[in-house]
Amino acid sequence: MSEQKTLSIIKPDATARNITGSINARFEQAGLRIIAQKRISISKEQAEKFYEIHQDKAFYDSLCEYMSSGPIVVQVLLGNDAVAKNREIMGATNPANAAIGTIRRDFGESIEHNAVHGSDSEENAATEIAFFFSGIELVG
Ligand code: UDP
Ligand code: MG
Repeated sequence: MSEQKTLSIIKPDATARNITGSINARFEQAGLRIIAQKRISISKEQAEKFYEIHQDKAFYDSLCEYMSSGPIVVQVLLGNDAVAKNREIMGATNPANAAIGTIRRDFGESIEHNAVHGSDSEENAATEIAFFFSGIELVG
């Protein structure tokens, strides 16, 4: 196992329901350390840039509208195999298909409003962390 960083986002549906602390507790219970965190709002254009890998998907426009519709909490998680570990505790994209006890199963509202984002590879994690944070903001 190697120590990794991954980017997490608590999405607008979760900030609206005031459950950021409950979600953060899941990360900490799983051994992931929140080494950077900020609550921000992003524009639709910024959401489009962040999710540009999905620009050809049918859900892209709605996703970007939603991600810019309210506050988000962007955060960097550090831990052993953090990318895969976070994906595991997040659960499947669609909360209805997510395993029992996962964040999306317990807190997600729909396939779009699914509470959290997590990077899907170490390479994408580095790109996504750099999108939101400078090195001086990562305090391990
Ligand atoms: N999404 C959606 N409809 C879909 C698939 C995805 O609205 O059919 C949204 C959902 O919020 C998801 C995000 O787009 O988290 C990015 O999709 P991806 O396939 O990367 O899923 P993830 O990596 O977040 O599990
Ligand atoms: Mg993804």
